[in-house]
Amino acid sequence: MPDLPGLHSGAGRFAPSPSGELHLGNLRTAILAWLFARSTGRRFLLRIEDLDRARAGAEAEQLRDLALIGLDWDEAPIRQSDRVARYREALDRLRGQGRLYECFCTRRDIAEAASAPHQAPGRYPGTCRSLSETERARKRSERPAAWRLRSDVAEFRIHDRQHGEFRGPVDDFVLLRNDGVTAYNLAVVVDDALQGVDQVVRGDDLLAAAPGQAYLASLLGYPVPGYAHVPLALNPAGQRLAKRDGAVTLADVGRDAALGLIFGSLGLPPALPAALAEFDPARLPREAWLVRPAPGHGTNNVGAGR
Ligand code: GLU
Repeated sequence: MPDLPGLHSGAGRFAPSPSGELHLGNLRTAILAWLFARSTGRRFLLRIEDLDRARAGAEAEQLRDLALIGLDWDEAPIRQSDRVARYREALDRLRGQGRLYECFCTRRDIAEAASAPHQAPGRYPGTCRSLSETERARKRSERPAAWRLRSDVAEFRIHDRQHGEFRGPVDDFVLLRNDGVTAYNLAVVVDDALQGVDQVVRGDDLLAAAPGQAYLASLLGYPVPGYAHVPLALNPAGQRLAKRDGAVTLADVGRDAALGLIFGSLGLPPALPAALAEFDPARLPREAWLVRPAPGHGTNNVGAGR
């Protein structure tokens, strides 16, 4: 088992993908992750998840905005693109345990197999799980393989601070994509463990991914972190808030107005030290935060608060 620095002290984290400016919903999740960490005496870390959707300049904008709203962090942010050797090491260990197999399926193959009777939707149907060496050799000459986890559970249970005991399905998910890029589900598990993160606070769109990640952590001999999946911000149409919804970034709304909206939606005073003193996870809203962006500037919160 590799070194797990800082486990004794524990850490929380925020892990944005540098695909664009953070919007009010992202900033609110970052604030919540900071409040959860600081209110429990943990370190707070940032991780830039740039394996996939990176846009030049976005990382600097995001760090600027996180500092502007008053967050602080305890170490220089790490970047996933600098950590590929660590992901390889984890893959090698899983391969040594017989936990990896090559998958040659296209999206279409998976969709077709998954529509067969008795097949749970969204689950990898296991098409490539037991190919013979001859079949693999033939398929390798046709297309590059992705590498999947050979899972031996159908579901896994986690504990979530906001959702309680949560049991969710686990399938043979991809760990290394067929373009050679490490899959998010592997990188997040390796990074949380090696950074000593024992508290994962993030949007509840990722709740369904947590059982697979916790299972993978246990296979790698890592401690499973505690989770708190917090409600997302939605636009008035009930869809996930996005930059295209209008005035939803710190630059659009202004710092004080943004903090007023975010803390107002949480029922907390609009400044970090005061909010920290009053923070109580048991009193956080359970439902999504409805944000009504103005078409020009300024944003009216019609909040589904508490
Ligand atoms: N990078 C992911 C996102 O921005 C978050 C992943 C995580 O917190 O585990 O949605």
